Amino acid sequence: RAKQTGRNAVQFYAPHMNAHAIDRLALEGALRGALRDDQFELYFQPQVDLGSGRVVGTEALIRWRHPDFGTVRPDRFIGLAEETGLIVPIGDWVLRAACRQNRAWQHAGLGPLRIAVNLSARQFSEPGLVQNVRRVLDETGLAAPSLEIELTESMMMADVEAAIETMRCLKAMGVKLSIDDFGTGYSSLAYLKRFPVDVLKIDRSFIRDIVGSPDGAAMVDAIISLAHGLRMQVIAEGVETLEQLDYLRGCGCDEVQGHIYARPEPVREVELLLRKGTMEPTPLHA
Ligand code: C2E
Ligand code: MG
Ligand code: MG
Ligand code: MG
Repeated sequence: RAKQTGRNAVQFYAPHMNAHAIDRLALEGALRGALRDDQFELYFQPQVDLGSGRVVGTEALIRWRHPDFGTVRPDRFIGLAEETGLIVPIGDWVLRAACRQNRAWQHAGLGPLRIAVNLSARQFSEPGLVQNVRRVLDETGLAAPSLEIELTESMMMADVEAAIETMRCLKAMGVKLSIDDFGTGYSSLAYLKRFPVDVLKIDRSFIRDIVGSPDGAAMVDAIISLAHGLRMQVIAEGVETLEQLDYLRGCGCDEVQGHIYARPEPVREVELLLRKGTMEPTPLHA
């Protein structure tokens, strides 16, 4: 039976098939197999302080090392993992692996670095979330302020009061909170000031619009001012060009995460960057 599931999973990735042809059961089986066989891996993308050029943290981004299909990006499987509930054990693995890795880096003298971990909606609404985070920090020995948990607007808006309560508990522990993909959800500005969030991550679609559109540039400037007014730090996501970087610097953006500095890399590669400590922007479209 397991063999059969495996074969179906292969078919799912056949090039002539589109997303609608997903054999959910097969992919679900393959995801279970991936957990069991340890096929998930974390990549890490540096987050760079704009003023100093120092790497101040990394974001952990999951990859699936499939024996036949190579490295599968999260967009291909996180959605179904969420629907099936498998995201809970997968997310648990991510949280633990990320904290363990960050602790190891600190132990090696490469810190103090922050590690950002994406949470899924399902994980965020799990009743045991707060205790689980506590347990992972205890077991890995990572200090709470070195962990940043990324939430999205939709996760917070699904049940605002419950979200604020969960966020307060995480904050009380000392964990940092950020809003990922900011600007793409439907959160109301009226709520933004009620969310106990440390960091706002501007979605890459806004960064793309900086150059060539005065309105796009004005939006980014306004988001940065808004965040700073609410005493939040700002990270710009998906920065690829020097023009974008210069504009962000002019707006007082705090940190940058994007291909202009580095792509997400496996442990070994990112460690080389962490050892150097500071980074130079390398534009893609110069
Ligand atoms: P995200 O959390 O917004 O992560 C940033 C995504 O932007 C990453 O895609 C990263 O590779 C990409 N990126 C960074 N800089 C640039 C750039 O300069 N240009 C372009 N074009 N892209 C850039 P990735 O790794 O494929 O992850 C996609 C999404 O999957 C993530 O978006 C996140 O929502 C989700 N994800 C990744 N890992 C996890 C995880 O462990 N758990 C959960 N629940 N979701 C995850
Ligand atoms: Mg993220
Ligand atoms: Mg995201
Ligand atoms: Mg994002």
